[in-house]
Amino acid sequence: MTTPKQRPADPKAQPASNKTVDALVAGCKENCPRCHAKITSDQLKTIFPNAPDDRVTIVRDMFNQYMENVEIIRCLRKAHIFAQMRGESGDALNPVSENLNYSRKRMTQVFGAGVDRRHPGALAAADSGDQEGIGNALYAGSNGNGNAASGDGYRYRGRGYIQITGRGTYSGTQGVITSKCAGSGIDVVTDPDEASTPKGGIISAMGYWYWKTPSLNRLADLGDAAATINMVTHRVRGGTDATIDAGRRTAYQTTMKVFRTPECVDRDKPSSAATPWVQSDGLQSSGASSMA
Ligand SMILES: [Zn+2]
Repeated sequence: MTTPKQRPADPKAQPASNKTVDALVAGCKENCPRCHAKITSDQLKTIFPNAPDDRVTIVRDMFNQYMENVEIIRCLRKAHIFAQMRGESGDALNPVSENLNYSRKRMTQVFGAGVDRRHPGALAAADSGDQEGIGNALYAGSNGNGNAASGDGYRYRGRGYIQITGRGTYSGTQGVITSKCAGSGIDVVTDPDEASTPKGGIISAMGYWYWKTPSLNRLADLGDAAATINMVTHRVRGGTDATIDAGRRTAYQTTMKVFRTPECVDRDKPSSAATPWVQSDGLQSSGASSMA
């Protein structure tokens, strides 16, 4: 007769203290319970030291509810997504909306001398301080947007903790929100401003993270090297910028400590080994099924 193997207590049951999770790790050499552990307010406050408590609570709870569904269930994946969020939106968990307040001079600096040829009407909009016109001119016809008259450029300007931009990205992100974050009530296609709230900001960041191809989760699994952080940054931003890249690498030094990636006993297992947590009752502990 064999004794049923003892499973550790489910670290997803509640936001566990670091001490509790440490004890779980010590008692379980086969898997890393920290990978599936809910995140805590203390962890978020270390990454976002200027975030007010109410934002911390919302981001913590929404992340914890849906992290399994979007498979951010490895220490490395948590470290990478929160480093990108810190880099994209700063240290206060402020879900910013893209600033389109360009002067003619600044727009030419950023978008080059041919900006008005490539984006007709952009300079005229800058001259009259028309941010809506600027967004519509700059982003017309790209990233799933219609032409300038469609209004998509401004409507789907960058928003949230990871600046999602363009109708195509909003739509792809929403597809994940609808299928993986059921019950969240967030719809960034019909109400893009929701992405500029703490709840919509974290839900859209997670939806984007899961939607983006090739997979950001798989890329995060590659580890902590500077080259990996840069690859994640470039995939999230769609471009390269030495200053921004350096900022993300700095942010990652914090998040890798918070999520203790060097200690993760699962970190070198293949991506396919990262599976949703199964509770001791045999039920998959998926956030979609229950929410207070
Ligand atoms: Zn781990």
